[in-house]
Amino acid sequence: MRVTITGGAGFIGANLAAHFRGTPTPAEVVVLDDLSTGSLSNLEGVDVEVVEASILDPAALDRALAGADAVIHLAAVPSVPRSISDPVTSHRTNDVGTVDVLEAVRRAAESGRPPHLVVASSSSVYGSNPHLPKHEDLTPHPVSPYAASKLATEAYALAWASSFGLDVLALRFFNVFGPLQAAGHAYAAVVPAFLHAALAGRPLPVHGDGSQSRDFTYVGSVCRIIEEAVRRRVAFDGPVNLAFGSRVTLLELIERIEVELGQTLERDHQPSRPGDVPHSQADATRLRSLFPDVEPVPLDDGLRATIDWFRSSAG
Ligand code: NAD
Repeated sequence: MRVTITGGAGFIGANLAAHFRGTPTPAEVVVLDDLSTGSLSNLEGVDVEVVEASILDPAALDRALAGADAVIHLAAVPSVPRSISDPVTSHRTNDVGTVDVLEAVRRAAESGRPPHLVVASSSSVYGSNPHLPKHEDLTPHPVSPYAASKLATEAYALAWASSFGLDVLALRFFNVFGPLQAAGHAYAAVVPAFLHAALAGRPLPVHGDGSQSRDFTYVGSVCRIIEEAVRRRVAFDGPVNLAFGSRVTLLELIERIEVELGQTLERDHQPSRPGDVPHSQADATRLRSLFPDVEPVPLDDGLRATIDWFRSSAG
């Protein structure tokens, strides 16, 4: 089996590449990445073929997709605040780039069966819709350019599935965390931002009062679902939440990190950020019906593994 991962040098992509290489029947893995936020160091020691190029380059896409049985499309500008400071780049990469990937999948089909396609959408598409838990039939209300671009990503992918007979699975990721997630920059996600500060002995940056909640998903659980999706060529004609329905506030998250580190942590409360949603929790019914055998990695186990990685990469 040959799997192409766009954005495979990024946080989720590099974890997934390592996961595919480490399975009992390892898949051949091709990574297409322009290294804008990803890094080849994330793939150190992982046996993959790298095409260093943009998804906006059709010839590079054709090279990366040659002979692929499956394509996992993760390449994106993956941040709400980044999309607010530069919405046009988010649109070009996330929307135009997705259409370019879809067209490359169609071209790849000319030489045989089209590759199976898994695309990364985001829980941010639910936006200001207050209903909890978030189930896939809710009306999306994106409140940031990033969220709108992710809604377009899944809509294009599902439209290409029904128009051109592609097998597509559009997964809405919820706050994914784990080893390799970048910290120490203005757009860092909350888990790496907290761990980076905690291990450096600095107060934890909390936007707002910390009562906002998230359905944190360890990256190992994401890899398990995608691997199983690829092996069984799972497709679905609507978006599918990829989270397991737990909800933890940022203050509770800090308490769990305190337990793992065995120390009390100071907080630095900062203003809320535009585009942030107050609460997020997945309805996992659809996910569980498609993947009844996949069990998530518990939050505390995931936090422990992530802390271990932060410690080892700091040293
Ligand atoms: P990341 O920034 O670590 O990975 C994105 C990768 O895409 C990077 O390696 C980057 O270099 C690459 N990339 C960006 N533009 C590119 C282009 N034009 N051509 C080729 N490569 C390009 O982010 P991540 O957290 O691993 O996110 C992966 C995917 O998951 C994204 O689509 C993101 O929107 C989605 N997602 C992530 C989360 C999360 O919590 N991390 C939540 C929801 C959705």
